[in-house]
Amino acid sequence: MADVRAWRAAQAGSVGLVPTMGYLHAGHVSLVDQARRDNDRVAVSLFVNPTQFGPAEDLSRYPRDLERDRTLLERAGCDLLFVPTVEDMYPHGPGASVDPGDVAQPLEGERRPGHFRGVATVVLKLLNIVQPTRAYFGQKDAQQLGVIRAIVRGLDVPVEIVGCPTVREPDGLALSSRNSYLDPDDRRAAPVVHRALVAARALWEQGERRADALREAMRRVLAEEPRARVDYVSVADPLTFRELDVLAGPALLSMAVFVGRARLIDNLVLS
Ligand code: AMP
Repeated sequence: MADVRAWRAAQAGSVGLVPTMGYLHAGHVSLVDQARRDNDRVAVSLFVNPTQFGPAEDLSRYPRDLERDRTLLERAGCDLLFVPTVEDMYPHGPGASVDPGDVAQPLEGERRPGHFRGVATVVLKLLNIVQPTRAYFGQKDAQQLGVIRAIVRGLDVPVEIVGCPTVREPDGLALSSRNSYLDPDDRRAAPVVHRALVAARALWEQGERRADALREAMRRVLAEEPRARVDYVSVADPLTFRELDVLAGPALLSMAVFVGRARLIDNLVLS
């Protein structure tokens, strides 16, 4: 922690921070690439934050491979890799925490109570430790990005938040560390998530503006895949994450779907 602060203090120019939970893939690397384009130096944090996992979630089996991550980041041109321990981050237990407010209530917030409080708290801590000029987050976790924008705005944190596009496999599956939970049959089934989003977007492009019709289109596609079990499908306001009735402006199509042992989330913005 002290060495990270010392490193930061020695940097005259701009610093970009990419917070991650490790088990890195090309989506993470795209954030590092963007940070390198925008800043003089790039820091990556790797921390599997226990306070954002629910009691029944996958904290203990979350995939890890620090050596592989280190090699990947060296190749990507990362200048500082920060890998704190749980004791480094929470020496006195969970302690003070950040209430992210209304944006954290619906969707993922409803299904994962306490998740966004954990995310908001750890991200604010990382921002305070590294004090980057800019911090990079994926649109893949659209509501998380909204939560982080909300705490930075609401608490006047002096950092610029940069959202980055979702990196996908050729068949549409969004890259995710949790894709490692998919067995070969699940992996073949998983692109149904992206297909469902694309089907709803196609309807919207044809002029459909009733949110229910778009939700129904997503559910119809998902129902064709027996390995897919829907947690939710949503057509929401992209700023508040509240469900829409009729689309009068931009909208966020999103969903969480269980395939095998993995809970996959994905989204598309209509604008
Ligand atoms: P994680 O390690 O899953 O916490 O993700 C770290 C950061 O990478 C978050 O800002 C994610 O939104 C982002 N991310 C994860 N998957 C992707 C992806 N497929 N494309 C772009 N960014 C991603």
